[in-house]
Amino acid sequence: MKPRPDPEKFAKAMVKQKAAVTRSLARATTEQGVLILLTGDGKGKTTSGFGMVFRALGYGQKVGVVQFIKGTQKSGEELLLASHYPEVEFHQMATGFTWDTQNHAADSAAAERSWAHAEKMLQDPGFDLILLDELTYMIAHRNLDEDRIIDCLQNRPAHQSVIVTGRGGGAALRRVADTVSEVKNIKHAFDAGIKARQGVDY
Ligand code: ATP
Ligand code: MG
Repeated sequence: MKPRPDPEKFAKAMVKQKAAVTRSLARATTEQGVLILLTGDGKGKTTSGFGMVFRALGYGQKVGVVQFIKGTQKSGEELLLASHYPEVEFHQMATGFTWDTQNHAADSAAAERSWAHAEKMLQDPGFDLILLDELTYMIAHRNLDEDRIIDCLQNRPAHQSVIVTGRGGGAALRRVADTVSEVKNIKHAFDAGIKARQGVDY
């Protein structure tokens, strides 16, 4: 075990740290919604997005979710929202996987239909928080026009926060986002042959 720090030194370090935190808090004075991009190849992007959804719901805020996912399996988050928070507007693309459908035009049409829901929410000041789960793939696969997405995100109501998740992310999204976190894959159980688990992975 590491030796305990010298109490006097530790107390001094804490005083310094507290002063730094107080200075940072004093600097952060702007009240506005934020655009958050959660990207990278590790596990934890969607679950983090839903973590904020549940935070916001705890304060009685109005929340919307659009999932640009291909899978048709219902996630635990969706089941919980449907049973306990029916007031949350929830849309899922659920077209089946591209490698099954192999139809770019059909995928793009489905993406457009889902984006129409997102666009409506992004223009509605009634929404406090919107989760656009896996949206990055729609840009990467050219199913949706990036400029239009960026334009909508930038022109949303000032108090509204938006979370975008998905690998890749893209330079334009990174540039306009206020907060960007990259979840790095160190290792994943799946690579060791462990099956995706209910309640953990979906
Ligand atoms: P989660 O939904 O668990 O927060 P995520 O949103 O970060 O994961 P996605 O890239 O959207 O990850 O992948 C969705 C599914 O794939 C999840 O079930 C997740 O556990 C799994 N997954 C995430 N990262 C990896 C990885 N590096 N290798 C294998 N499977 C992964
Ligand atoms: Mg995800």
